[in-house]
Amino acid sequence: MILRRQTRQIHIGNVAVGGNSPISVQSMTNTDTRDVAATVAQIEKLQDAGCEIIRVAVLDKDAALAIKKIREKILIPLIADIHFDHRLAVAAMESGAQGIRINPGNLGGPEKLSKVVDAAKAHKVPIRVGVNSGSIEKDLLKEFGYPTEDNPKSLIESALRNVRLLEKQGFEEIKISIKSSDTLTCISGYQQLSTLSDYPLHIGVTEAGGLIAGTVKSSVALGILLHQGIGDTFRISLTRDPVEEIRVGFELLRSLKIRERGPELISCPTCGRTQIDLFSIAEEVEKYVQTMQKKVKVAVMGCVVNGPGEAKEADIGLAGGNGVGIIFKKGVLYKKVKEDDLLETFLDELKKIEAS
Ligand code: SF4
Repeated sequence: MILRRQTRQIHIGNVAVGGNSPISVQSMTNTDTRDVAATVAQIEKLQDAGCEIIRVAVLDKDAALAIKKIREKILIPLIADIHFDHRLAVAAMESGAQGIRINPGNLGGPEKLSKVVDAAKAHKVPIRVGVNSGSIEKDLLKEFGYPTEDNPKSLIESALRNVRLLEKQGFEEIKISIKSSDTLTCISGYQQLSTLSDYPLHIGVTEAGGLIAGTVKSSVALGILLHQGIGDTFRISLTRDPVEEIRVGFELLRSLKIRERGPELISCPTCGRTQIDLFSIAEEVEKYVQTMQKKVKVAVMGCVVNGPGEAKEADIGLAGGNGVGIIFKKGVLYKKVKEDDLLETFLDELKKIEAS
């Protein structure tokens, strides 16, 4: 059983982060935020996939102003991601951003920071102090060195220094992230940080890579941390359609038995006994399963001899070979069809389950 580390709770719009709230899955758009239609379209797809918090990059005043129009059309809370320019942070909050991500130390001094803090207090907007290996202040790098798995101190100190700047201004609606592109540095950094602060943690590996490398790196780092009860919200960073980040995120939570969303698809790896084109069948089934909400276990298996037995915990599954296809429920034969009709019949059965 996972014992969650106790953190304070903050709210990004209507989503609670930290405390006993569910670990939320978030993503970031890769559209031009000023292009409201494109940004809303991407957020809608992310919402359908289960995204619970969305972050958009705010590069200029027009992007900050676009937040108002974007928010009118979306259902999930929006965080504005800002670097350096305190005016953009204030403008984003005035436009309706429900959270901001900044590095307080790079806004140009206490006066500018206090303007951001005043706006955050007035609009009840929490701030994510988001540092990563590339943004660590020079003096900290000099004192503690570049962060490594054995010594992530500069990363942690940078975050805590930024947190103190906010606390000095009487602001504590904070969450923290300390991302590294190195899996082990990420793990040891968050492990140490979690003993030093009880602000909620946004965990993630930065610049993790494409679908396979990024999924593996993020799953190793976040899987270990979440299993140790560390982490209140996260983003899986992938060089890919952000919808994939959400899918990977929920699979990660499912595999740790932390949260479940929609059906679970299991499929056999295929072997010399496979006598059907399982890859394309699995792909078609997966496409439909990703649109389902029902919490069922669906199996796609490569042979009728072993498939039903190997997947007997599945609520419904298919297997086929030698011109014959079968559909089974909890390992027991339910329907026998021609192999050519197997996919269509199976999808019909899934549609019935979804509609029931
Ligand atoms: S279900 Fe059949 S095809 Fe798939 S791995 Fe098992 S034995 Fe091989």
